[in-house]
Amino acid sequence: MRQIAIYGKGGIGKSTTTQNLTAGLAELGKKIMVVGCDPKADSTRLLLNGLAQRTVLDTLREEGEVDDLKLIEKEGFGGIRCVESGGPEPGVGCAGRGIITSIGMLEDLGAYTDDLDYVFYDVLGDVVCGGFAMPIREGKAKEIYIVASGEMMALYAANNICKGIQKYALKGGVRLGGIICNSRNVDREKELLRHFAEELGSQLIYFVPRDNEVQRAEIKKKTVIDHDPNHPQAQEYRNLAQAIENNTQFVIPKPMTQERLEEILFEFGLMDNIKDNYHI
Ligand code: ADP
Ligand code: MG
Repeated sequence: MRQIAIYGKGGIGKSTTTQNLTAGLAELGKKIMVVGCDPKADSTRLLLNGLAQRTVLDTLREEGEVDDLKLIEKEGFGGIRCVESGGPEPGVGCAGRGIITSIGMLEDLGAYTDDLDYVFYDVLGDVVCGGFAMPIREGKAKEIYIVASGEMMALYAANNICKGIQKYALKGGVRLGGIICNSRNVDREKELLRHFAEELGSQLIYFVPRDNEVQRAEIKKKTVIDHDPNHPQAQEYRNLAQAIENNTQFVIPKPMTQERLEEILFEFGLMDNIKDNYHI
């Protein structure tokens, strides 16, 4: 069983990418569980065709106790088992609390069955700390992919996430499997992301193009593979699934200093040369 955590800045496309790529893996006959680790609880919507998923925290609040996996797990596209951790009301308590509770509960209820090929954790965040580090603490998920794009803030976040991964990698067995570029149509984006990933000692594992078919499918509450299996974007997600299935490169990332990251951003025209600014 490969347990994989997907990290990346909010809004970058983690949930969209995770659901589309797991749909691709399901087509290959893989048995998968997706655990949403974002208080927004929208990590499995497209797999469940919009079916409202009661989160683990909501279920606990309402039932007091959860003694049956069926209360927190729903089956979605291709037999994918879907769980949403949920979170406290905004501004109340630690947002990562739901993740800790959910993973503990999934263990207690015997959710990690031997027939599973993959467990995916879709985790929000620009940094890896507190509850959001839970999926990779103590080696639960050994494999991480970071979703990024050629936008400056996405790369800052990815680099910060690598700092967190490095900390847990030295203690446990967690490794970075690669950077997934979810394109924003930035100039020279693929080249930039390849450069960025290699600087971290990792790889650009796949470049997912930006395509409005993603939105069209989303309106129908479906993944692209479910909505229009013959669309070229569906094939992109199948290729990403295959790249992850075949991946053999797992590393402890080497996060960059702020200066080095800014140098790269400057090279690719995403930032003014800071040195120039001193000479105005
Ligand atoms: P996150 O989970 O990282 O917060 P989402 O997966 O919710 O981000 O993505 C935010 C929005 O971006 C989605 O509503 C989706 O419509 C859009 N999106 C994501 N990936 C693509 C893509 N490859 N092409 C077009 N739109 C995309
Ligand atoms: Mg999300």
